[in-house]
Amino acid sequence: MNKTMDYYEILGVEKNASKDEIKKAFRQKARQYHPDVNKAPDAAEKFKEIGKAYETLSDDNKREIYDRYGEDGLANAGFNPNAFDIGDIDLSEIFSSFFGGGFPGGFSRGYERNPNAPSRGEDLRLDIEIDFLEACFGLEKELKINHLEPCESCNGTGIEKDAKDTVCPTCHGSGRVQQSTRTILGSFTSVTTCPTCHGSGKNPKAFCKACRGYGAIEKEKKITIKIPKGIEHGSKMRVANEGNAGRNGGRNGDLYVVIHVKPSKEFLRKGFDIYSEIEISTPEAVLGCETEVNTIYGKVLATIPKGCQNDQVVTLKGQGVPYLGSESQKGNHYITIKVAIPKKLSTQEEKLYKELFILSKQQNKDGIINKMKSAFSSNT
Ligand SMILES: [Zn+2]
Ligand SMILES: [Zn+2]
Repeated sequence: MNKTMDYYEILGVEKNASKDEIKKAFRQKARQYHPDVNKAPDAAEKFKEIGKAYETLSDDNKREIYDRYGEDGLANAGFNPNAFDIGDIDLSEIFSSFFGGGFPGGFSRGYERNPNAPSRGEDLRLDIEIDFLEACFGLEKELKINHLEPCESCNGTGIEKDAKDTVCPTCHGSGRVQQSTRTILGSFTSVTTCPTCHGSGKNPKAFCKACRGYGAIEKEKKITIKIPKGIEHGSKMRVANEGNAGRNGGRNGDLYVVIHVKPSKEFLRKGFDIYSEIEISTPEAVLGCETEVNTIYGKVLATIPKGCQNDQVVTLKGQGVPYLGSESQKGNHYITIKVAIPKKLSTQEEKLYKELFILSKQQNKDGIINKMKSAFSSNT
């Protein structure tokens, strides 16, 4: 497979680089290696690597996974680090400060864009909620999404199949018109979106009836995603190409599924560790015991040590959440012990506690006498 790359090295930044530093390094490298600027044979490959590195390091969630588990971890978490493509980068942003606005090759946006040039579909976001244990162990989930798909009636062209005069008569296909305004200071010419075709460059009379000229139709689709075990609340998963359809042959946008994890009443999760509380009786705390506790894997026997104190923590090693992107590693389960002091006692219990009480008083007195004895002996 592909060799593992050091994203930090590619961008030439330190491991602890801030977001701003990463962005700055990316912009600088991207300008240097953009295939339209750099004619070296490996420039395109290099540019792609830079984009991959930036895409991961600029996203807190992906960066954390990458720092811990590398590229394999990203793949296991459902991110495809190789899915990066140049279209993901806003080129006008990269080049704006370099060329003083706009890219010479014609990457400018807005009105000046050729309406028939390929454009990438929009990315979509879908928020879903999963259960606490589902997040621990992963699951396959079927999702219903609504996105734009190319219109079947017109093959995405936005024009009826047998239509004549398909080009907008007002703007002749450019999608924009020049307007002259006369003022006392003279005549001003401005370029605006064509009012006839709203910038599409197509003749509205020839518009496809199914999609009203848009070339795409909103459709419901069922997709199944694999949510990896160990996923955390707030994680974002990219499903490539399931965003809105691209226009004029441009690539589709991506779908981002944002995972919300329902909190558990019983467990608290921090990273891959689980925290919970149990209550034990005073004799159990004093004498130690084995007691059944709930873990995310079910019931487990925990050993409470002799003389266990209130708020003491008992660790169940490896009973926490499976690490994201790892087959065998798991976090721990930390149980905080709450010692219950009885408020009501049976007659027999009361009798026994009184005996203990007298015993402890006696021990205390003996303790004082012993201390006094040792104090006297050290004086002599
Ligand atoms: Zn027009
Ligand atoms: Zn259509």
